[in-house]
Formats: sequence, structure tokens, C-alpha cells
Amino acid sequence: MNINSALKVGVLGFGGLGQAAARILTPKQEMTWVAAADLKGYSYCERGLDPDKLISTYHEKGSIGYCDPYGTFSNKSIQDLLETKAVDGYFLALPNLPNTFMADVTKQFVASGWRGVLVDALKRTSAVEQLLNLKDELAQAGITYLTGCGATPGLLTAAATIAAQSYAEVHHVRISFGVGIANWEAYRATIREDIAHLPGFDVEKAKGMSDAEVKTFLDKTNGILTLENMEHADDIMLELAGVCARDRVTVGGVVNTRSPKKPLSTNVQVTGRTFDGKISTHTFTLGDETSMAANVCGPAFGYLKAGIELHRRGIYGLFTAAEIMPKFVK
Ligand code: NAD
Repeated sequence: MNINSALKVGVLGFGGLGQAAARILTPKQEMTWVAAADLKGYSYCERGLDPDKLISTYHEKGSIGYCDPYGTFSNKSIQDLLETKAVDGYFLALPNLPNTFMADVTKQFVASGWRGVLVDALKRTSAVEQLLNLKDELAQAGITYLTGCGATPGLLTAAATIAAQSYAEVHHVRISFGVGIANWEAYRATIREDIAHLPGFDVEKAKGMSDAEVKTFLDKTNGILTLENMEHADDIMLELAGVCARDRVTVGGVVNTRSPKKPLSTNVQVTGRTFDGKISTHTFTLGDETSMAANVCGPAFGYLKAGIELHRRGIYGLFTAAEIMPKFVK
């Protein structure tokens, strides 16, 4: 792609992932980070925002709306940004709590007449299904939306799609992730959404837990969450990409909320039968030094760049991380 001027990108949600996204974007020449929103406000500067300033303001005062001079308070920060500011594409680093939240935000974009590119790091199959139902509306609105573009779903789902090419039939895709974070408060939505997968919990129950209740719960598990047979959209994405039926995809992992060290090496194993009858397994393992933030936000912007290329060619609608190759953002 010939990018004459840097792409103007925004980040919606300024928690753990949103802040990491800001830091990842800063050294990039092809993208300028111009916009960010949290629950209580937004910041916009078309020449580029300063991540240190926004992050310290967010921690000290609770909202980037306090940033002087680029901050604005609003209890409809997303709506205000999309109606008034020029942005080529957004990474939606928002909590999907309730499970319909991202689909509701998408409907907001469609209704506003905004045209551009959206990328999310959604996790649940049922959340991605809601977006699939919006495919036609997105196409008519002139929006190119790439869903499931984090680590899992995202990087590992795309890797599984590539690994599948060696086989005549794919028998099993097994994703195992290890996440280590120093404290759960840095990623409140991620941890609440993970708790929602545990036996006895659901999204509503996890959403309703106060911070003190989450802390008490994590005290009981020594800060560890062990997740098995999760409802994860890698399954529907691989089914839609024609790799295998969704019941052949399993996702689980271990999250340590008290140490940045990963409790296990994140990997995807793709087992299948080759054209000449051999059964084999490809394994793709992420480096242990790479954080969740690196493995989610890196792909998200790679897919955002790919989405902007599609948009410029007049290709709109909904795509998943398993059907489009991410581009590398310089
Ligand atoms: P977080 O709780 O740290 O931050 C959420 C941010 O969103 C906050 O800044 C909050 O103010 C803002 N926000 C909430 N409601 C808003 C609204 N209505 N308007 C504007 N801003 C609003 O979240 P996080 O831990 O960074 O997680 C973000 C999402 O990323 C979660 O849904 C999580 O599941 C997902 N995630 C995906 C992957 C993956 O690999 N696919 C991995 C990790 C996290």
C-alpha cells in the first residue's frame, strides 16, 4: 500500500489494552494515534496524542477527559468522537460487558453515517455471531469491520488457518493460552470476562461483581484462573474459513493475575491427515516474553492496516481474522 500520509487511528477503551495500544502506536510511521475514549471522556489531536500524558492523567484522575488541552468530558464519548472527528479506523479495546455491548457500539457507528474501519479483539462465539448478523448493514454503511483480531481469537486463529494448509482434513485445533499479569486491576474487563467462563458464572454474574468481590474471589484461587472448553470464537471463525467444523476447536488456558510470568507457553496445535494418509500435528508457540498486550494489540493494528486497504478498494462488510492476512505496520 502506498501510504502518502499516516493513517489516523483511534482507540476506544483506555484500560489495559487501550493504553498498551497507545504505546505500540507511538513509534509507528504509518499510523498516527489521534483519538482515544474512555467511559467519561475522550482526547483528540490530529497531530498525534502523547501516551505518557494520557496514561498518567487516566491513572491520576480517572479519565482522559481531564487532559489539557485535548481532553473533553462526555458520557457519550464514542458518539461524540465518531460524529465530530476525522479518524480512518478504530481499535475497539472496550469491555464486552454485557455480551451485546460491541454489537450495540457497532450499530451506533452504522446509524451515525460514519465510514471507515473497525477492528475488535472480541472473544466469545456468541458475540462474534451478533456481528455476523450486522454484516449487510456494515456493508451498506461503507464500514469495513474485522472481528476477532486479538491473540485468541486472532493471531492463533490465523496461525491455525495457515497450519491447516498441510492437511487434507483437519481433525483438531487446540488452543492453550498462558497469561501473566502483575495485577488484575490493569485488565478489569479481561479478568471479569474470563471469570464468566468458570463453572457457576456467566457474563451477567461476572459483570455484576464489584471490584472487591473479584478481589475476594481471586484471593480464593491464589490469583489463578484455570479455563477449560471456553466459548471462544476461534471455533466459528475457523468454521467460516472452511478449516474445520466448530466442534473440532477447543480453547483453554491459565491466567495468573499476580505475576507477569506466563504460567504456560501459549500455543495452538493443529492436528490433521495429509493427502498421503499421515496423521500429524503442527504446533505454533508464542515466545514467553511476549505479553498479552503485545499479542493482542500488535495483530489488531496489523488487521486495521489490512482493513484500511480493503476499505480504500471499496470492500466493506464483516471479515474475521481467519480470512484476511494482517499487514505489518511500519
Ligand atoms: P479494561 O477494563 O482494562 O478497560 C476498559 C476501558 O473501556 C476503560 O478505559 C473504560 O473506561 C472504557 N469503557 C467502558 N465503557 C465505555 C464506554 N461506554 N465508552 C467508552 N469507553 C468505555 O479492559 P481490557 O482488560 O483492556 O479489555 C478490553 C477487551 O479486550 C475485553 O473485552 C477483553 O475481553 C478483550 N481481550 C481480548 C483478548 C484477545 O486475545 N482476543 C485478550 C485480552 C483481552
